[in-house]
Formats: sequence, C-alpha cells, structure tokens
Amino acid sequence: MRRVGVLALQGDVREHIAMLETLGASVIKVRRASDLENLDGLIIPGGESTTISHLLDTSGVREPLRDLIVGGFPVLGTCAGLIMLANEVLDGRADQWSFEALDVAVRRNGYGRQIASFETPVILGNDVVPGVFIRAPRIERWGEEVEVIAWHDHGEGPHPVLVRQGAAWGCSFHPELTNNVVLHGLFLDALAEALR
Ligand code: GLN
Repeated sequence: MRRVGVLALQGDVREHIAMLETLGASVIKVRRASDLENLDGLIIPGGESTTISHLLDTSGVREPLRDLIVGGFPVLGTCAGLIMLANEVLDGRADQWSFEALDVAVRRNGYGRQIASFETPVILGNDVVPGVFIRAPRIERWGEEVEVIAWHDHGEGPHPVLVRQGAAWGCSFHPELTNNVVLHGLFLDALAEALR
C-alpha cells in the first residue's frame, strides 16, 4: 500500500484524504517535519497560499520538505498547492514564497473576479473530467521541461490546467471536490512507478 501524505496545515485536507483512501492509499496528515518520514509522496491541498507558506515556516515543515522535493520526492499541488510549487508567482503577497519545483508562472486569482469560481470540462488524456476552479491560479507561462497533462477551453482556446515536471505535479483546479478520481489515480500510479 502506498503511503501518501496530505499537508494538513490549512485548506481542503479532508477531501484529498477521502479521495486517496477511496483509491486504497494509506494517508498520513503532515503537520510537522517528522510526519514526512517514510512517505511515498505528498499532496499540497488548495486553500490560501499565503497562509500555507506562513504555516510551513512556523511548523518547521518548510526546510525538510524542500530538501525532499529537491531530491525528486513526488508532490502534487492543487490550486494553492500549485502556487506553492511554481517558480514564479504573479500577484503574490510580498511575504509569500514557494518551493520553485515547477518552471511555470502562475497568477493568483488569475481568472478575474467575475468568474472567481466556475466549473468547466477539463481534457485529461482520453478523459474529460470536471474542473472546479475556485479563485484559481492561472498558468501564464510554462517552460520547456514542463509537460502539460490537462487543458480546459474556457472561452479562450485550450489552456493548461495540470502540469508536471519530473516528480512535481501542479493543478489549478480541485479534483478532490468532485467524485472523479482520475487525477489522484494518475498520481498514485506515478508513485508506484517511482518505487519500482
Ligand atoms: N487564491 C488562493 C491563493 O492564492 C488559491 C485558491 C484555492 O486554493 N482555491 O492561495
């Protein structure tokens, strides 16, 4: 059984745990550095990136998690979690920081106020999955090393909403708020692959 951590400092932790457990993973809530021991991968949930970055500092999780990520530890960030993994954060607050694991620029709340939250189909390989976007970060630049795994077409042509660079995955929507497990399944498959 795969041991997957969910960063449990703030955000929609419970929903990720439920989805991972549905898929048969053993889930550990990560609140302190010692919780990172013996994990196969970690999910950084959606919530508020300014708060998550602050709590990563005060909890002492920031440094050990950064070391793991630099060493190729599998990590999936959704929404605020994507912001935590991006190497460029546009419209960020001056005191927030990120792990810089993905060569992307993301704009916080980048879909504008009018459509701060919306649902739109996301094309993920051969699947179409529901994309729930809540004050979502918009991926505005992605580097050559970045693989685009899923797109949406929200009135502006295909636009990336799920990217991967090595073992780091970032997603601008909230799969955990639907009952579609495709993305969590892909992440767990990648963990199994990494363990082989
Ligand atoms: N706008 C939030 C942020 O900047 C992200 C929103 C979310 O995770 N649903 O962190």
